[in-house]
Amino acid sequence: MQTKILLEESQIPKQWYNVIPDLPGPLAPVINPRTLKPVTPDDLTPIFPMAIIEQEVSTQRWIDIPEPVREIYRLWRPSPLFRARRLEQALGTPAKIYYKYEGVSPAGSHKPNSAIPQAYYNKQAGIRRLATETGAGQWGSSLALACSMFGLECTIYMVKVSCTQKPYRKSLMELWGGKVIPSPSEFTNAGRSILAQDPSSPGSLGIAISEAVEDAASHADTNYALGSVLNHVCLHQTVIGLEAKEQLKIAGDYPDVVIGCCGGGSNFGGVAFPFLADRAAGRQVRCLAVEPASCPTLTKGVYAFDYGDTAKMAPIAKMYTLGHDFMPPGIHAGGLRYHGDSPLVSQLYHFGQIEARAYRQNACFEGAVLFARHEGIVPAPESSHAVRAAIDEAVLAKEEGKERTILFCLSGHGQLDMAAYDSFLSGNLEDYEYPEESIRKSLANLPEVE
Ligand SMILES: *Cc1c(COP(=O)(O)O)cnc(C)c1O
Repeated sequence: MQTKILLEESQIPKQWYNVIPDLPGPLAPVINPRTLKPVTPDDLTPIFPMAIIEQEVSTQRWIDIPEPVREIYRLWRPSPLFRARRLEQALGTPAKIYYKYEGVSPAGSHKPNSAIPQAYYNKQAGIRRLATETGAGQWGSSLALACSMFGLECTIYMVKVSCTQKPYRKSLMELWGGKVIPSPSEFTNAGRSILAQDPSSPGSLGIAISEAVEDAASHADTNYALGSVLNHVCLHQTVIGLEAKEQLKIAGDYPDVVIGCCGGGSNFGGVAFPFLADRAAGRQVRCLAVEPASCPTLTKGVYAFDYGDTAKMAPIAKMYTLGHDFMPPGIHAGGLRYHGDSPLVSQLYHFGQIEARAYRQNACFEGAVLFARHEGIVPAPESSHAVRAAIDEAVLAKEEGKERTILFCLSGHGQLDMAAYDSFLSGNLEDYEYPEESIRKSLANLPEVE
């Protein structure tokens, strides 16, 4: 009866799994925001190295992980797979709950899985500096870590409201050598134009992306790195699901349902895609993406072409979206406050290959506290959405008197999110209404493509 299932370092995957060849249909083209024509590799070379551009459009099912990347992965990979026996017992459920714990990375989340290869490919291409955005600070700290490992400079536009909510994430980024700029800032045209309209703007991921892209596009020695949404990011994150599969094999199990929280879709895609490959081959497995009720991209958004950012500088992609100028309420799961979603996750949802569900933050923190009291680990506010869904699946199994094997991705720990836990424990955590009116307004501003 194992509680913790570990793999050897030599079992770190040697290849990432690319879901593109196994999608239910062809992916819609990505559109250049200026020409409204499909993006060409030349459009992307000002901000991405060629190796990343190739991965973005690759139709190869398996892509080699460079050895220097695996070498750094060894610092925390393979990550452990736990069986949540004490939580199962507390719930009195016949279900088996497994969780893949990505909080063991130095940054405390799954994000270094993609930050490391992105920094590596940029270094190989002779780039000197990377610019990026960060919401809760998880991606910014992961990229600062990756840049310090490869000797690159790192500039991070951090959503202003998160700078106040998560001051220690800023410290962490600076500790790893990153330069943190609260966004919207005076350093870019995109930031200045937002500040002109609203000097007290709390910022959003969409605005911060605009600033980072502008910075990268206007400096030859600087590229841009994105921590979620794009195909290559989901690709890098598949190490999560690939390892989990091997670990479940050791346990003699296979999941009925695979769960991940979903902001831009990278940890969900990372844990779910390798199982969707089995599903494409005819195996029964459900995959469930969990999002906040206040930023309900899959469950309340539309499947349409939209800008990746607020200033309409980033490419237009076909995805589930709430509109590029949607400003989500300031929930504590900052990493889930994005108006759009991965085009891969979106297409799979559109074709009914995956499911989605939305929760309010109090329900998530309630689940996270129950989890922490039985399993010990404090979930990140983002991950608490997956925890909540896993608990609900286990309770449903109990009500139905059925066995069920549940796998969820615990995408990060919440040790730097104590302000959020404080406000939950003191009963002061606000549950925002579903922002129907502002979503309706922003959906009226989608670009006309097709
Ligand atoms: C950033 C983040 C997320 C959301 O991003 P995805 O790309 O949807 O995975 C989820 N969990 C944690 C811990 C994060 O840091």
